[in-house]
Amino acid sequence: MEKLMEGLNEAQQEAVVSTEGYIRVVAGAGSGKTRALTHRYAFIVNELGVDPAHVLSVTFTNKAAHEMRRRVKRLIGGEQDTGFITTYHGFCVRVLREDIHRLFYPKNFSILDVEDQKTLLREIFEDMELKMNEKTFKRLLDKIGILKGNTHYVQQMIMRGGMPAADEAGDLDGQIIQQYLKKQKRVYGLDFDDLLNFVFVLFEQYPDVLSKWQDRLYYIQVDEFQDSSLKQFELVRMLAQEHENLFVVGDPDQTIYEWRGADPKYMIEFEEFFPGAQTVFLKENYRSTPEILSLGNALIKNNYFRVDKDMLPVHPPGVKAVHYHGKNDREEAKWIVQQIQSLVEEKQARLSDVAVLYRAGYLSRNVEQELMAENLEYTIFGGFKFFDRMEIKDALAHLKMIAAGDDLSFSRIINVPKRQIGKKRMAFIRQKAEAEGLSYYETLKKYEDHEQLQRTGAKAFIAAMEELKERKKELNVSELLQEAMQKTGYEAYRREDGDQERLDNLAELLHSIVQYEQTLGEDIDLDEYLQMISLYTDHDREERMDTIKLMTIHTAKGLEFPYVFVIGMTEGVMPSVRTIRQRKERGLEEERRLAYVAVTRAEKALYMTESEGFQNGGQKKYPSRFIFEVEEDLYERVGGLDPALIEEAEDYIRASHHLKQEAPQQGFEKGTRVHHPVFGIGTIQSIDEKKNTYLVFFDNLKAPRPISRMFKKLEKVQ
Ligand code: ATP
Ligand code: MG
Repeated sequence: MEKLMEGLNEAQQEAVVSTEGYIRVVAGAGSGKTRALTHRYAFIVNELGVDPAHVLSVTFTNKAAHEMRRRVKRLIGGEQDTGFITTYHGFCVRVLREDIHRLFYPKNFSILDVEDQKTLLREIFEDMELKMNEKTFKRLLDKIGILKGNTHYVQQMIMRGGMPAADEAGDLDGQIIQQYLKKQKRVYGLDFDDLLNFVFVLFEQYPDVLSKWQDRLYYIQVDEFQDSSLKQFELVRMLAQEHENLFVVGDPDQTIYEWRGADPKYMIEFEEFFPGAQTVFLKENYRSTPEILSLGNALIKNNYFRVDKDMLPVHPPGVKAVHYHGKNDREEAKWIVQQIQSLVEEKQARLSDVAVLYRAGYLSRNVEQELMAENLEYTIFGGFKFFDRMEIKDALAHLKMIAAGDDLSFSRIINVPKRQIGKKRMAFIRQKAEAEGLSYYETLKKYEDHEQLQRTGAKAFIAAMEELKERKKELNVSELLQEAMQKTGYEAYRREDGDQERLDNLAELLHSIVQYEQTLGEDIDLDEYLQMISLYTDHDREERMDTIKLMTIHTAKGLEFPYVFVIGMTEGVMPSVRTIRQRKERGLEEERRLAYVAVTRAEKALYMTESEGFQNGGQKKYPSRFIFEVEEDLYERVGGLDPALIEEAEDYIRASHHLKQEAPQQGFEKGTRVHHPVFGIGTIQSIDEKKNTYLVFFDNLKAPRPISRMFKKLEKVQ
């Protein structure tokens, strides 16, 4: 018990022992929310004696879930099954693996990532003899995403005995989408949208299934709750209904997925959804130096739609944040790399203490080139697309063939290496399979002696697959992969092909599997492994080496690094001009939150960089407004930034997307009694016209709070 409470402040301890009812923890970046959540999990298991099988803990990414599992295991011992520390999608997979048969889908349904989705589209385009290109695919996938915004289409997919015929009247896109759903059904594939939607339909149609899961999950906790979408919120709300137990932590200022449906209102209006809910505030910041913290606070204060919160630094003063301005992007990249080199040479930092963060993937290229030139090791998280690489997908398709024998994997590898089964013979297999309701592989087996399949590698392929399937039980995943690569001739084929990078990647894949087998200490079997992998995005790769970390800000969410470079801080890039165009003021605020997330990742030192030149569209580059929004004494400026350029930049910012300040929503007078969704009831003590805020003394708080006059949720008490 003491050990569990060690290294937690009073408020965190309160959060840890508040195990019953509806509870939210609202606090800024680096205040120890995730730490409180992790310890609470351990408290429930160790001190309340509740089996982890009854505790659902939802985090945002696989990486975060993996990290939390590791930490929890340290606190509760490694033997327990912590499978319910997972992501929303991971949880849905768990539910569906157990209960999807109620919707007449097999339990070994496959999970489709974007590449799989494109493979399906490609087949449809071939069948319909349409011209295809990436752009069309992307447009169609977006449309499919919109269709899957609600659950209506699921009804059609779960109908027994195949899908009804495509709507004849539909336009071409409509017809393609119908074909797509049909194909999806044929391979029993679910994409990420489907995972949640199928669970909803399952729970709706089978109350007994819902109640089984409600019953099982006595304790539910959610990290990064501010980024929950309506569907995700509904899911946890539904699950928590029986035991009336839900614990959420988050920071509304870090909502960065509004564009994908996230809505911080579930966090802010928590008490309205769950009357009587308890709220815990955390005030100390344990992550960053006071310098970094003040910069972050100064930046986020520019947002109107927010609840101001004070954060106190725990660490002693350190160094000032830096704004570097370069004459061109080469210079910017060179400066960054020099800084990293000197940090390492002065033994202040290891390479892995350094993170380079950016608004969009393409921004990494310059820094990458410079790092390569200087022989500095780096890893790209997210966007590296490790698991999207052809050879990796091929290798995994072999494993999937052994596990499930699904059509997608079959199509992927049947003719790699060449087995003389090209388009024509595939059409034969497809046609037979569809007519007889068999999988492609079953069809191949049935017709291996058919004249259509003479003089092909079909027989050898079948022999290899059958042998591998037989040995599936006795071999672990890494051994199975090795055998598969050899027996099918894939490895030899890659060797002949001679691309060293691909061979290295395959070796790396094998290495990662061995690592999982060793570190997780759990015997993962093939199905579990594939399930885990299919939920992966690339940033979930294990970090092993001492390398600099490069990633987008979205990927860096929830993480922390001693030295952080936020690069490409150019107006139009960050804030992104596209976001502002699409979502105006709200878009700008989300961009600012993104910048806030970026700077608050830093523990010891923060560098914001940008440079002159021209953007891709030809627009002249200026420093981001976010830099100008922060008082100049909060950072040190390095590199020659001409005052004339600053002026020009400010003119540009004003002119290009000048956002009209809305008139204040409400003109309350001094002394008005008001209600606030988080702080409750209070009195307006004074009004600051310049900052456009009220200073409100809330009945439950010891000191007044500045609340923006734009904040719509501040209401007069009648
Ligand atoms: P974010 O909003 O960025 O997700 P967070 O609120 O989840 O941040 P944590 O990641 O839990 O913050 O904690 C930030 C850092 O502070 C971590 O390194 C954590 O170990 C440390 N920390 C948290 N609480 C304490 C404490 N009471 N004493 C010492 N260190 C702490
Ligand atoms: Mg956190």
